[in-house]
Amino acid sequence: MNYYQILGVSENATQVEIKKAYKRLAMKYHPDRVGDDREKHEKFKEIQKAYSVLSDETKRAQYDRFGEAGVHGGGFGSGFQGGFNGDFSDIFGDIFNDVFGGGARGQPQRGRDIKIQVGLTLEEAVNGTSKQVHITTFVPCSYCEGSGSADGNMQMCETCGGHGRVRLQQGMFSVQQTCPRCQGSGRMYINPCEHCGGQGRRQETRKLVIKVPPGVDTGDRIRLSGEGEAGPLGAPAGDLFVDVQVKPHPIFQRHGDDLYCEVPLRFATACLGGEIKVPTLEQPVNLKVPEGTQTGKVFRLRGKGVKSVRSHRTGDLLCKVVIETPVNLTPEQKALIRQLDENLGKKSQKHSPKNSSWLDTVKGFFDKVKAK
Ligand SMILES: [Zn+2]
Ligand SMILES: [Zn+2]
Repeated sequence: MNYYQILGVSENATQVEIKKAYKRLAMKYHPDRVGDDREKHEKFKEIQKAYSVLSDETKRAQYDRFGEAGVHGGGFGSGFQGGFNGDFSDIFGDIFNDVFGGGARGQPQRGRDIKIQVGLTLEEAVNGTSKQVHITTFVPCSYCEGSGSADGNMQMCETCGGHGRVRLQQGMFSVQQTCPRCQGSGRMYINPCEHCGGQGRRQETRKLVIKVPPGVDTGDRIRLSGEGEAGPLGAPAGDLFVDVQVKPHPIFQRHGDDLYCEVPLRFATACLGGEIKVPTLEQPVNLKVPEGTQTGKVFRLRGKGVKSVRSHRTGDLLCKVVIETPVNLTPEQKALIRQLDENLGKKSQKHSPKNSSWLDTVKGFFDKVKAK
């Protein structure tokens, strides 16, 4: 038989046809599949030899002109005698791995992890909560209990020839992958489960309750192991990762375990001192404001912040008071203010120490400018 006959192709066959014929025959006669059948081992060698020549247009042309003599001594003879477990030359490497995969049998792939985000109010994040979510994901097929089989009868996977791995050509490189058909098991069911198409899992929308511990913050991640995507053919499920996202709060800002807020302060209270109500995450508390409080002053309320999910230390509430300038004054009120201001003005050094020292600074600055 000549090389064309061995591969079962015509003498005008294209490279695509040759490759296809080789793949088909190599699947059939590969030593891993035929056991100790020596005759088939010989046949496999012949197939490889024929392919090595016909897949190379230069060698093929020589073979067409001179027959086997034309391609002997080309330096690729040793590969044939080297046995099947030896190092296949580059001539075979690509296509061989294309068909059979080179490595050890893969393991069934674990289901993928799922990442979701859950939005919480500050109160929920601080106090902890339970959140119901709906996730569309793979779940084990209940009909075949994840096996993918209608009846449990198995055979060797045809796609990977039982190796569990296949090679895919990606540009210049060939990449080894777990066999998509058998998911690396090397075996497949003869009669796939009709409910899951033999995958052992089905897509479903699951309802899940996520317990959020108190004290979490934006950027925290809750891991629910085994709650991710179900693996194919009964392989373990992935994990579910829940990323916490705390929504902005109308009053409080959070920095670590401390809370910040701004509270308006009446002009008169700032002057005379008094008590104001300050919000906390529970109920409002009273804060004593001393006489002569300036705007922007920050009061620290110990233990009124957030209890940390990690250290269990409780942060503080930092409350910044902002004096509100009275607006919409009547002529009478304006007159009173003016009267007060004039009264204060005479002893400005005493009543507005900051203002006086600031004026001194400005004066000094201009004096310097003039002196230049
Ligand atoms: Zn099923
Ligand atoms: Zn397979």
